[in-house]
Amino acid sequence: MLMFHKRGNRMNFHIMTLFPEMVMDGLNTSITGRACKQGLINIEAVNIRDFTDEKHGHVDDYPYGGGAGMVMQPMPIYKCYNHIVEKIGNPDKKPKVVYMTPQGRTFNQEIAKEYSTEDDLIILCGHYEGVDERILEMIVDDNISIGDFVLTGGELPAMVVVDAISRLVPGVLNNDVSAQTESFEDGLLEYPQYTRPVEFMGKRVPDVLLSGHHKNIEAYRLEEAVKRTKERRPDMYEKYIETKEKRS
Ligand code: SAM
Repeated sequence: MLMFHKRGNRMNFHIMTLFPEMVMDGLNTSITGRACKQGLINIEAVNIRDFTDEKHGHVDDYPYGGGAGMVMQPMPIYKCYNHIVEKIGNPDKKPKVVYMTPQGRTFNQEIAKEYSTEDDLIILCGHYEGVDERILEMIVDDNISIGDFVLTGGELPAMVVVDAISRLVPGVLNNDVSAQTESFEDGLLEYPQYTRPVEFMGKRVPDVLLSGHHKNIEAYRLEEAVKRTKERRPDMYEKYIETKEKRS
């Protein structure tokens, strides 16, 4: 089941980053951009560098104990965080803070649903070798990774997370039903999709999809979804069969 926001609630994303333009350029386009214009979501990228007192605008320093690279300092992040919390202006509820890190739990559709019911979500993007541990201990509620690989910064991961959550906010997709039939709903990957023309380079759209027989179409799609899941995601397929057996 999809857990949706109450209609009328706007979801606000606050992204702490050293590269706000990167985040905003990406998210201001296409469906998320339209959702912002419609007031269904709001995305604000806040520049951590605006909160440093260092005269050259530095926000990073060498790691204690030595080692490669630079580490983001705690104070600019702390001030940036306080600025966002004050702006949200709800002293009764600490807004959830997610740190994008390869050391976090791996992001998936379940986590996207979990966060889609929040009014405000603060996302911290690291850079360089990462972030001073003390500020993470102070403000972060959850560590999220987008996969077992290391990127140069948390901006792309934050964009992935914002995009996936936004699609679950009511009204963001033109047709909310499309989110309910998608991959990972009901533990299956989605069935294959076709559009015009009926024949493309000798390959025809399966006849059943042209039949107008809704029951047959549904059965065909379920069969294809199961087949595809078994082939591409045997781990998901096993769980699907287990759940099915428990239900029957
Ligand atoms: N030294 C860190 C480590 O080994 O865990 C990696 C730092 S990485 C070069 C810089 C920043 O990119 C991280 O602080 C994090 O915000 C982001 N990042 C890199 N890979 C990521 C991933 N797979 N998922 C989420 N964030 C990631």
